[in-house]
Amino acid sequence: MKLFDTHTHYDDEKFELPEGPDRVERIAALFRDEVGWMLGVSVDGASGDFQIGMASRFPGYYAAVGIHPQNCGEIADRDEALARIAEQARQPRVVAIGEIGLDYHWEEPPRALQQYFFEKQLALAESLGLPVIIHDRDAHGATFETILRYPGLVGVLHSYSGSAEMARELTKRGWYISFSGVITFKNAGRLAEVVKSVPADRILIETDCPYLAPEPMRGRLNHSGNLKYTAAKAAALRGEDYEAFAEATSENARRLFGIV
Ligand SMILES: [Zn+2]
Repeated sequence: MKLFDTHTHYDDEKFELPEGPDRVERIAALFRDEVGWMLGVSVDGASGDFQIGMASRFPGYYAAVGIHPQNCGEIADRDEALARIAEQARQPRVVAIGEIGLDYHWEEPPRALQQYFFEKQLALAESLGLPVIIHDRDAHGATFETILRYPGLVGVLHSYSGSAEMARELTKRGWYISFSGVITFKNAGRLAEVVKSVPADRILIETDCPYLAPEPMRGRLNHSGNLKYTAAKAAALRGEDYEAFAEATSENARRLFGIV
């Protein structure tokens, strides 16, 4: 039984760039442990190059490429940035477009600009037949409404924070819902109910490392070795056996990302 960490950011500066032997060793160690697969998710073009490089080095490591809504404000040439993502998306071991989406938590970047990059990348994913990894922060309505305009697409809402109703509508359409360490926090409340409600063949788990370390590691630097805490919490909430739940979530992720 091996876990699949469906959302990691090992290029984050918290892991101490520039790339050193420590970080690579640490990631390799996770593969020898209970984590069988990891998806390296991108926030911009440079991030995509990093993830593609990592995926070529480790057998269980796969890449997603895309521009995060919080990073689209820094882009000087939109066409060039999108062409780079399209090029990266065609590389071996790239299994998804992401993370893309909408973030209304902060005033910037402007919502119209976020929407522009979101839709351009949804269209790219559709044209390539790739699934998408969606970031939705305080933008549930707009995210849902946008997704529905691309009925040919499937994907995952990562570190899910929406309602049980929205999760139901999405899973009915073949989408997946991914839960992070937030479900282990004492104030998870309403989210715990959502964890129980998602169909067994549509649920994924993730660390979103280096962020969102689960209890009992909350506040520390997060990594894929902590995924077991989130898996255990989700299994307990659902009244399922840990091993069976872990296996089901790995199988779901491999189905979504086309990993055999
Ligand atoms: Zn992320």
